[in-house]
Amino acid sequence: MRLLVTGGAGYVGSVVAAQLVEAGHEVTVLDDLSTGHEDAVPEGARFVKANITEASDALDGMDAVLHFAAKSLVGESVAEPGLYWASNLGATLALLDAMRDKGVGRIVFSSTAATYGEPERSPIEEGDPTRPTNPYGATKLAVDTTLSAFARMRGLGAVSLRYFNVAGAYGRYRERHTVETHLIPNVLKVATGERESVSVFGTDYPTQDGTCVRDYIHVADLARAHLLALEAITPGEHKIYNLGSGTGFSVQEVISVCREVTGHEIPAVVGERRPGDPAVLVASSAKIQRELGWKAERASLHEIVSDAWGALSRNA
Ligand code: UDP
Repeated sequence: MRLLVTGGAGYVGSVVAAQLVEAGHEVTVLDDLSTGHEDAVPEGARFVKANITEASDALDGMDAVLHFAAKSLVGESVAEPGLYWASNLGATLALLDAMRDKGVGRIVFSSTAATYGEPERSPIEEGDPTRPTNPYGATKLAVDTTLSAFARMRGLGAVSLRYFNVAGAYGRYRERHTVETHLIPNVLKVATGERESVSVFGTDYPTQDGTCVRDYIHVADLARAHLLALEAITPGEHKIYNLGSGTGFSVQEVISVCREVTGHEIPAVVGERRPGDPAVLVASSAKIQRELGWKAERASLHEIVSDAWGALSRNA
């Protein structure tokens, strides 16, 4: 297929673009490099440096779009909600209109567990209430709502994948955000000597050791789900799938595994809770397993951390 990957110079987008090239697809990456890196665009993919609001020419002749380009920092979204509504919803509406004008009727969308907010039960299923607790989650949910409406009204074929905590690396493709807020890369920065210690945001949650529990999914497993989603697109339907490994690990457990993998003592300092953090976020991925035959193949936290550490050490 001829595929446009928006945000394909970013972490998840670059891994998906690489797997699409490996699977024999003709891939064009469109990225404005506001947070992505041009050297993350895989060999064999065409690169267009542009914002998604300028995607019209790049859409010519495309069979489908995989849409990753977005603002994705929860804290920043609270500080600057307007930026998030404009970049995540406004720009996506422009992209969807350009797709309609160019006759491109298929999209895979990068959605998030943040659409659910504080869950009522665990593991979370796709039909559970969506009550995002921050503008980031709200803007992603608004796109999901739009996709459902456009599937009904315009015959668009769409699949939203709601990611839980993505981590790990795929070959040379790894997480490297300028502003790093995520747990695993921050813990590994202590092992590389970039940071002196890691802060544990709260130890008084109602969990086994008092720290928050999250569902970590290997980026390679996550990316593979996009290839399955692409095949599963049905015109006039919007399908939504959670993507996690189905197992929760606490912040303390993640730090312990990072200590084992790196051999570094990794000092941890207990800090305040981070506002808006739910105690436990674990996905039920039963629906995507049942309907698309997807399964997490690298579900061990040890493997996820080892791959992240390997890619980081090779690039150090
Ligand atoms: N966390 C932490 N210290 C850090 C970064 C994150 O204790 O330096 C905690 C955070 O409060 C959350 C978990 O680790 O409970 C995962 O956070 P992350 O930002 O990686 O992902 P999120 O679940 O917010 O998407």
